[in-house]
Amino acid sequence: MTQTNSSIGIRQLLDMQKQAFIEEGAVSAEVRMQRLQQLIDMLVEHKNALCQAMGEDFGGRPAVFSLANDILGSLASLKHARDHLKDWLGDSARPSVKPFDMFGATAWVKYQPKGVIGIIGTWNAPLFTLLSPLACAFAAGNRAVLKPSEIAPRTAQVLAEAVAKRFDPQVLAVVQGGPEVAAAFAEQPWNHLVFTGSTSVGKLIMAAAARNLVPVTLELGGKSPVLVSDTADIAHAAERIAVGKSLNSGQLCVSPDEVWVHESRLQALAEGIAAQYQSLYPSVSGNADMTPVINERHHVRVKAYVDDAKARGLSVLEVGAAQAGSDRRLPLALVINPPADAEISRHEIFGPAMVLRSFHNIRDAVAAINAGERPLALYYFGNDETEQGWVLDNTLSGGVSINDVVMHPALEDAPFGGVGASGMGHYHGREGFLEFSHARSVYKAGSHDPRREWGMLPPYNEQFAQMLQAAVTP
Ligand code: NAD
Repeated sequence: MTQTNSSIGIRQLLDMQKQAFIEEGAVSAEVRMQRLQQLIDMLVEHKNALCQAMGEDFGGRPAVFSLANDILGSLASLKHARDHLKDWLGDSARPSVKPFDMFGATAWVKYQPKGVIGIIGTWNAPLFTLLSPLACAFAAGNRAVLKPSEIAPRTAQVLAEAVAKRFDPQVLAVVQGGPEVAAAFAEQPWNHLVFTGSTSVGKLIMAAAARNLVPVTLELGGKSPVLVSDTADIAHAAERIAVGKSLNSGQLCVSPDEVWVHESRLQALAEGIAAQYQSLYPSVSGNADMTPVINERHHVRVKAYVDDAKARGLSVLEVGAAQAGSDRRLPLALVINPPADAEISRHEIFGPAMVLRSFHNIRDAVAAINAGERPLALYYFGNDETEQGWVLDNTLSGGVSINDVVMHPALEDAPFGGVGASGMGHYHGREGFLEFSHARSVYKAGSHDPRREWGMLPPYNEQFAQMLQAAVTP
């Protein structure tokens, strides 16, 4: 098979996969592991071509970052699923219905594949957002169709060719195209639909899926806050925040967006972050270690947030300087205490800029975070266990990293997903396996049914009524 699967209609692919799924019947652990292994082998074989494509799509994303984030990140999910699915897929015995259990009635939950899963990915992590959920979808015994982002078209093309070379399109296929194709994709009667992307498009996806009652996993974005406690070591926090923010030049869904710190330490934190960032990137334009902003539209968008802050006379600390017109690499911009109506306050930044906000009391910062949408990630820096517990109990986000940023999505054996405006559902680990399985309850009758002799069937007698009455206890 040398053709890419994109030329085949989405509906045709879905119908073909659904039919093959029905004909296949039970999907053994060995078949699931073999499909995961095929993906692993595909990534190993095509890693260089895929990294080159990601580099070209971004206009110079470092190959080491593509290797670490998209190749090794996806491999970690695929290998974890391959190596653990046997522990996940067995039936789970449950207590049966009383009093029939006394006569041998049993019960269990059987985890069955839902069928065919549609997966829509983003450009910022163009492989990871497709292959990491696919690891759980395959572990659960499903088939899948992928729709990569059109904003990373070379990666989409290399992936489509690699998939077409290794997989029967009845098992895995790739559909390419822009928002119109994505919209048509979301309208199909999948057995489950995974969407990674912005909150605004996520709403359109969920509305389209609702028309067919398709269950969705929505991996969305938002403004992930960082709380720097009065008990935190500022130098440590500055280093971790700068390192986390530098990844993919802030084009990560869990990138720190708004950093809260006590007013007396704001200056020290800003200077610390700037110094750390500068040590990572002594120069901006042409720096091969720095990921450029993906395209002109996003370059203009991020710059506009910073220009709006400057035009308002806000304090903006820029770490380095870009040479105009050379490439799309941007210096990190730290915007201090912007008002709520500033552009940078109103949008997920998703690029090399960050807001620093001061608090008088950390409780005020938590109140401000809770007044907004629930974020995908929340970060706490501090050395006070009581305060840490209070922050965890009094906030809600998709996940949390403590004394670091951007780390919890790398937990293979813990769910990765959002809550509220940052999404619903999750993948990774057993929770990801469950997301793409149907938990089917099974009851099996015992050898004897006592209902007639116990007077439990009509004509009812007084004794049965009294027995029921006696059973109504607090
Ligand atoms: P996006 O929402 O613009 O696009 C994502 C996908 O949706 C693409 O495949 C695109 O083709 C499709 N799409 C675009 N317009 C559509 C429409 N009108 N109808 C149907 N589909 C449409 O997002 P993006 O710019 O690719 O990615 C950035 C966003 O994704 C950020 O908000 C980021 O936080 C979020 N994100 C979340 C995660 C996560 O795991 N939660 C991971 C990466 C990115």
